[in-house]
Amino acid sequence: MKFDLQNKRVSILGAGKTGIATAEKVKNIGGIPFVSDSGNIDKNALDRLKENEIKFESGGHSDAVLECDLMILSPGVLPGSEIVLKARSRGLIVWPEIELAYKICNGKIIGVTGSNGKTTTTALIGEIFGNSGISAIVCGNIGNPFIKVADEIPADGYAVVELSSFQLEIIDGFKADAAVILNITPDHLDRHGDFEKYSSAKLRIFENQDKDDFSILNHDDNYLKNKCGDLASKMIWFSVESKDTEIHAEPGGKLYINNKELINSNDIKLRGLHNLSNVCAAVAVANSIGVDNDKIIDTLKSFAGVEHRLEFVRLIGGVSFINDSKGTNVDSVFWALKAVSTPVILIAGGRDKAGDFSRLNDLIKDKVKGVLLIGEAADKIERVWMHLTECMRAPDMKEAVSIAYGDARDGDTVLLSPGCASFDMYGNFEERGNDFKKAVMALK
Ligand code: ADP
Repeated sequence: MKFDLQNKRVSILGAGKTGIATAEKVKNIGGIPFVSDSGNIDKNALDRLKENEIKFESGGHSDAVLECDLMILSPGVLPGSEIVLKARSRGLIVWPEIELAYKICNGKIIGVTGSNGKTTTTALIGEIFGNSGISAIVCGNIGNPFIKVADEIPADGYAVVELSSFQLEIIDGFKADAAVILNITPDHLDRHGDFEKYSSAKLRIFENQDKDDFSILNHDDNYLKNKCGDLASKMIWFSVESKDTEIHAEPGGKLYINNKELINSNDIKLRGLHNLSNVCAAVAVANSIGVDNDKIIDTLKSFAGVEHRLEFVRLIGGVSFINDSKGTNVDSVFWALKAVSTPVILIAGGRDKAGDFSRLNDLIKDKVKGVLLIGEAADKIERVWMHLTECMRAPDMKEAVSIAYGDARDGDTVLLSPGCASFDMYGNFEERGNDFKKAVMALK
C-alpha cells in the first residue's frame, strides 16, 4: 500500500454507494471516517453505517466535516459546492474516491472514460482478461466502487476501472497504466457548464501518465485528434475509419492490429458501428499488455454486451423491441438509431441534460416513423421534432410501449433510447429499462 491512513480523520461527502464503500474502507484500514450527506440517507446505508460504528450526519453539511485531515467527495458532489470551497480555503486536501482508491491499490490500473461506451468497453476488457487467466476486477462507475476492491488487487493483477468526468475532474496524482478515452461528445453540460470544462475533466485521465504507460485514443473523434497530438505516454490510436492507426476495424470487413488481421468484423458478437469502436479500444488495451490474440478473438466472438445497452428484448408480431435505457444522452441515441436498420418507433424523454436534440434531425427524418415522448423533456423534444415525424405523448412506459406496438408494422423496431436521464420517473436507468422490458413482455 502506497498510503497510510492510520488514525487520519477522513470526511466523506455523500452517503450513496460510493460514499458508504469509502467510509467502510477508511475504517478498515485504520482511518476515522465521518460521513456527511446533504439529503436523506437511505435505510440500507444507515444500517451499514451503524453496523460499522461510523459517525455520520444527514440533511446538510455542518462545520464538523471540516474537522478532518482529508475530504473525499462522492461522484455526485459538486466540487464547486459551498462546503468544498470552504474546505479548500482552509487548505484541506480534497480528493475524489478514485484518488484514495489509487493510493491504496497495489495492482495495475486500466482506466476507461468517454462520453459513451464506458461500461460496455470496461466489461469487455474485464472479460478478455478473465478469459486469458489474468487476475482482474471490473470496477468504478460500472456499479462496483473502485475503493471497495482497490486493496484486494494483487501486484500482478488489474483493476479495470470505469471513470466518469465527475471523478476525473478533481484527481491529484491518480494515474492508470493504460488509460482509454473512447470519445468526447457533449454530455452532462447541466453539471459541467460547458463543453470545454467537461472535456478538460476527461482529458485529465492522461495527465499523470509517463513514458511507461499507455494512452489509448479514438482517432475518429476530431476533438481528441486535435487536442492530444503529443502525450508523455505511449499513444495508441484506434479507428473504424482510418487505416493509419495501430488498431483499425472496417465495418463489414476486418479488424487489424498494426495492419495484421485479427478477426472478421462480422464474427464479433457486439453489433453496431459504435460497438466496433468500443471493441477496437478493448483490443488496444489487451494488446498493449500482451494478451494472446486467440484469447481476444474467443472473447470477441462470445461477448454479447451489457444489459440496457441496445439489448434485444423480444420479437412479437414481426416487431423487434430493443432496450437502450442507458442511452441517456443525445449522442447515444444517434448511435442507437444508426445501429438499427429497420424503420423505428422511438421512445424518448426523461430528465433533460441540456441535450441538443436537433443534432438527430436527419436520422429522425430518415428512420423514425414516430416518437413516443415521456417525462419532463417531452415538450422540449416535441418542439424540435414535431415537423419531422409524428410525435405522441405517453403518461408512462406501459402506455408508451402499448401505443408504439399498436402503431408498429411487421419489420419495424420499437427502440427505447431516451437521450435523457431517468430520475424524473425512476430511481435509475436500470429501473427504467426493466419497466420497459416488463411492458414488452406483457404484450399479447
Ligand atoms: P457509458 O458507460 O459510457 O454510459 P455504455 O456502454 O453504458 O456507456 O453505453 C451507453 C449508451 O451509449 C448505449 O446505450 C449505447 O447505445 C451508446 N454507446 C455505446 N458505445 C458508444 C460509442 N462508442 N459511441 C457512441 N455511443 C455509444
